[in-house]
Amino acid sequence: MNKRMFGLKKQAKEISRERIEILFNEAKKAKNPETAKRYVQLARKISTRTKTKMPASFKIQFCKKCNAYLVPGKSCTIRTRNKKIVYTCLACNARKIVPFAREKAQEAKQKHLAH
Ligand SMILES: [Zn+2]
Repeated sequence: MNKRMFGLKKQAKEISRERIEILFNEAKKAKNPETAKRYVQLARKISTRTKTKMPASFKIQFCKKCNAYLVPGKSCTIRTRNKKIVYTCLACNARKIVPFAREKAQEAKQKHLAH
């Protein structure tokens, strides 16, 4: 791969990431859960097709099973249990379990990077 090709590939990844961000923003703004779901589906498609990693902050915003956009108290419930956060999707009852420790580690990492 020559330098130009590498540059193009990097640019494509950046564009994919931007598009994923835009789609999640649209999902957040969408009043209809079905519309939000469509945006999530599109974002996930871009992520897998372009092999762009979904940022961790976005990963917790949708249901892996039915692609519903998760809004705490609206389309999902949040419970904490044994140092874990349990998200339950109200559309399909799928549960997403996020350990506290990992989130804190990520937070620390971000803070570390910010300095
Ligand atoms: Zn679901």
